[in-house]
Amino acid sequence: MGLVVQKYGGSSVADAEGIKRVARRIVDTKKDGHEVVVVVSAMGDTTDELIDLAEQVSPIPAGRELDMLLTAGERISMALLAMAIKSLGHEAQSFTGSQAGVITDSVHNKARIIDVTPGRIRNALDKGNIAIVAGFQGVSQDSKDITTLGRGGSDTTAVALAAALDAEVCEIYTDVDGVFTADPRVVKKARKIDWIAYEDMLELASSGSKVLLHRCVEYARRYNMPIHVRSSFSGHVGTWVSNEKPTKPEGGEMEQAIISGVAHDTSEAKVTVVGVPDKPGEAARIFRAIADSEINIDMVVQNVSAAATGLTDISFTLPMADGHRAIDSLEKAKAVVGFESLRYDDQIAKISLVGAGMRSNPGVTAAFFEALSGAGVNIELISTSEIRISVVTRADDVNEAVRAVHTAFGLDSESDEAVVYGGTGR
Ligand code: ADP
Ligand code: ASP
Ligand code: MG
Repeated sequence: MGLVVQKYGGSSVADAEGIKRVARRIVDTKKDGHEVVVVVSAMGDTTDELIDLAEQVSPIPAGRELDMLLTAGERISMALLAMAIKSLGHEAQSFTGSQAGVITDSVHNKARIIDVTPGRIRNALDKGNIAIVAGFQGVSQDSKDITTLGRGGSDTTAVALAAALDAEVCEIYTDVDGVFTADPRVVKKARKIDWIAYEDMLELASSGSKVLLHRCVEYARRYNMPIHVRSSFSGHVGTWVSNEKPTKPEGGEMEQAIISGVAHDTSEAKVTVVGVPDKPGEAARIFRAIADSEINIDMVVQNVSAAATGLTDISFTLPMADGHRAIDSLEKAKAVVGFESLRYDDQIAKISLVGAGMRSNPGVTAAFFEALSGAGVNIELISTSEIRISVVTRADDVNEAVRAVHTAFGLDSESDEAVVYGGTGR
């Protein structure tokens, strides 16, 4: 029996009952003969509440201090979980990210893991302990300051530790039974996916399916670490994310669907730079200003310039959380870039259709747009990759659009309604 890393999300440890339930599950895994390392998130919506609190005292909280604050959330749950396990008669020790050897770069609020040195975890395991690690946090190699890995970052902690400890599997426990063909909170008829390749999961994750974080899937693919996404509230087998197609219980390989699913994202905003001179170097200056503020952009569209004025508009989308900083840095660059004005719109949603089968099946784009038009949804921006089509629409249209696309591609399940066991969807 090998080493297993289990990650429990905030909804799984939302209250004392949840912590005790999870503790029993961990102890059962240990009793099965596994070495167990647990990565735990902050309880329920603690992280959101701490961010709200920070914003009440400072509109743009200092990155270093925000990280200090947010890591407290995971400290609470790791200590409580270790206590709950001990009271079941098993040995457990909790560790902060820094103690667990999670070494990152120095970018506060979205640090990248650059190394994992889990010596203390290995020692704890060798002594027969269950090791509990605070997710979502690390320590900067250069500044030695505490960092966080960005929202949902406990998934990445879990996969990084699993890779460093050469675990058999990384289990991600959450409040739904696995990865579905759409968010079960929006599409009741979403279907659970039994197996999905890293490639498709990466696209779903980067398109807003927050059941797994994009960076965690990237990490898993790099180290070929299989992920099993499942519910901490049920005993059901979840979704396997891996490179190799698993064999079915009845024999034969599992097949990958042509379309893996529909993702949506309401966490982005759209910035339009109005009246940009249509000459070489303008776009470069705009996006340099954004990049210098460590902001990642998603879609970009440039309009055809009006012949009379020689001016054009450039729109792009970015995480809403970076919206203020983006506007700030563009305002500062205004004199150099020479645009007329800026427009900021956070009432947008992105809807994406993902599937490796898109490469070889013509007509997918047409059917996607037909489904949206059938639902009366207007499209504002479009972007594609080899295995994804995304559009930006009004935020109000998002649920209807996702359901229409899900039905149009035959993804609706005939039988079970997808169960959401907990969480607030925040
Ligand atoms: P945790 O607290 O366990 O980290 P998250 O809230 O981060 O949980 O992720 C689980 C949630 O992801 C689900 O409750 C569900 O609403 C959402 N979700 C979005 N897209 C999907 C999808 N395709 N399959 C499953 N869940 C999804
Ligand atoms: N608690 C952090 C968050 O809410 C990290 C995580 O849950 O993965 O984003
Ligand atoms: Mg999560």
